[in-house]
Amino acid sequence: MTVYLVGAGPGDPGLLTARALELIAHADVIVYDRLIPDTALDGARADAELIYAGKEGGGPSVGQAEIERLLVEHGHAGREVVRLKGGDPFVFGRGGEEAQALRDQEIDFQVVPGVTAGVAAPAYAGIPVTHRDAASAVAFLTGHEDPDKPESVLDWEALARFPGTLVVYMGVRQLPAITQRLLAGGRPPDEPAAIVQRGTLSGQRALVATLSTIAEDASAAGIRAPAITVFGQVAALRDQLAWIERRPLAGLTVAVTRARAQASALSARLRGLGAEVFETPSIRIQPLDGPVPALSDYDLVCLTSPNGVRLLWERMESAGLDARALAGARVAAIGPGTDRALRERGVLADIVPERFVAEGLVEALADVPVQRALVARAASARDVLPDALRRRGAQVDVVALYETVAEQLSERELAGLRRADYITFTSSSTVENLLATADGGLPADARLVSIGPVTSQTLRSHGLEPHVEASRHDIDGVLEALIADAAARR
Ligand code: SAH
Repeated sequence: MTVYLVGAGPGDPGLLTARALELIAHADVIVYDRLIPDTALDGARADAELIYAGKEGGGPSVGQAEIERLLVEHGHAGREVVRLKGGDPFVFGRGGEEAQALRDQEIDFQVVPGVTAGVAAPAYAGIPVTHRDAASAVAFLTGHEDPDKPESVLDWEALARFPGTLVVYMGVRQLPAITQRLLAGGRPPDEPAAIVQRGTLSGQRALVATLSTIAEDASAAGIRAPAITVFGQVAALRDQLAWIERRPLAGLTVAVTRARAQASALSARLRGLGAEVFETPSIRIQPLDGPVPALSDYDLVCLTSPNGVRLLWERMESAGLDARALAGARVAAIGPGTDRALRERGVLADIVPERFVAEGLVEALADVPVQRALVARAASARDVLPDALRRRGAQVDVVALYETVAEQLSERELAGLRRADYITFTSSSTVENLLATADGGLPADARLVSIGPVTSQTLRSHGLEPHVEASRHDIDGVLEALIADAAARR
């Protein structure tokens, strides 16, 4: 039994550490704060107990003593407990106190540091907290207390004289008093200062001013918590080093319509390019039951999607079979993802057409002798491939391994969809299902991105003209086409 005090980073899901993700995936109990990335718990076990221990609107909804009691109780019960906190657990996170409470009760704990907001928010605003020419020291302080109260534990005169960068957490409300104190302590009024709201998250805002003007500027701009304030020469470097605004999809909202399980890879890449991403997973992959096909009967086995590969293997494995069951057949794969899924299972496909559509495979098979073929795929798919093979005199069996079923969108997902600048469609079923679930249709000014001609045709059959069509019919192709379109429109 161990309680893990885990930092979740400042908000960008990509800044969760590998160790944090691993522990989240194993935990029996997760006690989490408000300021954690909204996808942080996606990898938790379905049967894990998730306990919210955050603060709503400043007031504690779960007190510190209660949190410590929870950790001790679950720790004693011998469960794997993850205490997930924003940023780093030992930087203004009361992680030290929680560790002490556990030690007092002789409960084992481990600490997993996180990326702290005081470093990350400035970094995402183009501000290095140290710089050889501008700051060789950095101090982290809490701006939580009213500096004018006699019981303030911070020595503001000493901080005013501190020879380096001051990074202030929790200081938005007290900003006027803090800057007054620093000025009174002799810090130069024209020293650069910056404030970064919602650092690393979509909707990050940053502004640069001086020590004497930052409080007023921040208030005029409506800057609110959570925000980090930076005092020091380094703040001026934002002019040169701002970078998130330069990313190819900065400021754009993209709706991703793939099935939930597959959406995350595309979403992560879009976020990395600067987009705000909403997953509107209108479809779910529903495996179909059935026997494993008699694979040794076929001289050609065609797989048309990574899901098909995964589910064929599930059927094979439940019958005690492995890759050797395909030894007698040529294996054809549509698309690099399908090819990769086969490779991961020890099979190098014999035929991978250059065009990732059924027609491409028909062409690639032109000179391949086929007598009996198996096409393993989704229940509702076009019959281009089986029909073409049959016309050539082959005997063709089609096995449906899964169906794609529509998923109802949540209010939040619908709201994201309505705001989208781009909606990506990676298959015909994403078109059909999104239209079936999107109340009131798609937003009129969103640009529709199609993975290829088949998906485009499905859009057109619903009276929707795609604005962008990928020339490579895979995820890389979709990203390339989207970036090119965004660049052309800037
Ligand atoms: N343990 C956390 C800090 C908790 S105190 C860490 O290491 O980052 C909470 C304060 O952190 C907020 O008031 C704010 O000042 C800062 N903060 C947290 N997330 C932030 C973000 N995404 N952008 C800017 N400041 C943030």
